[in-house]
Amino acid sequence: MAVYVVGHKSPDTDSVCAAIALADLKSKLGVECKPAVQGEVNPESRFVLEKFGCDAPELLTDATDKQIMLVDHSDLSQSLDNLNKGELMAIVDHHKVGDVSTPNPIEVWTWPVGCTCTVLKSMYDFYGVEIPKNIAGIMTCAILSDTVIFKSATCTDADKKAAEALAKKAGLDDLQNLGIEMFKVKSAIEGTPVRELVMRDFKDFNMNGNKVGIGQLEVVDLSLLDSVKDDLAKDISSLKGEGSYHSVFLLLTDIMKEGSEMLLVSDNPPVVEKAFGVSPSGDKAWLDGVMSRKKQVVPNFEKAFAA
Ligand code: MG
Ligand code: MG
Ligand code: MG
Repeated sequence: MAVYVVGHKSPDTDSVCAAIALADLKSKLGVECKPAVQGEVNPESRFVLEKFGCDAPELLTDATDKQIMLVDHSDLSQSLDNLNKGELMAIVDHHKVGDVSTPNPIEVWTWPVGCTCTVLKSMYDFYGVEIPKNIAGIMTCAILSDTVIFKSATCTDADKKAAEALAKKAGLDDLQNLGIEMFKVKSAIEGTPVRELVMRDFKDFNMNGNKVGIGQLEVVDLSLLDSVKDDLAKDISSLKGEGSYHSVFLLLTDIMKEGSEMLLVSDNPPVVEKAFGVSPSGDKAWLDGVMSRKKQVVPNFEKAFAA
């Protein structure tokens, strides 16, 4: 029976590439594994997979009767349905430890670094397994994506070192350029339904008993979103009702200006001021220097919701 390796819902490039890499590593160590995704592969990830000739992982949404390894998350709200009806075998991640629990001891590799693929690079080294050239390529791209080309507050020296070594193996020499190329693909929103944009990189959180959804769109220039901003605001408003959210926040991140405009709809809008010291004008707030949901947005909101 194959074991499935899967990243979080609304898969991003790290979730997709880390699943492929861990499945490759584990299979070479004698545990036959298949990479999987919980949803459609986004345009940036598609670009990355095509560039290095990797197949997109198969779709998996339910863990019932399956053996599972998780990458890039350990929160139940972001994981497969019925995770408790499958057998969780490992977690490789770089987020805060979530709320999964297991009846048996499992393998856990989780480091406070900018990308799961940075942890995976060290796992390959630890086990002395050679990283295939194409997998080194997609792992490099995952690091560029998660660390916003090394600019995010989440980026560490370990990420830079891992990316350098992986790039060498993959024969890549201009990571800055490759990064911009990826973010341009990510920024192309024409013809994409508004709900798809909202959900493209969207995560649910339980904050002090409140259901909070936080999405993020990272673009090379915020003006690219001017034509859809009103529709995005309307859509998160509908989503709030449909999903019975306390709050829905959508970060529109300008990776060149290094800040985010946050669209918000909340039962308690002052929570934004409490979290960031910025009072929103209407349903928007500019958060200077804020690029990381994980390191800057989630912890601030968690504190504000707890207060
Ligand atoms: Mg991720
Ligand atoms: Mg990640
Ligand atoms: Mg990300």
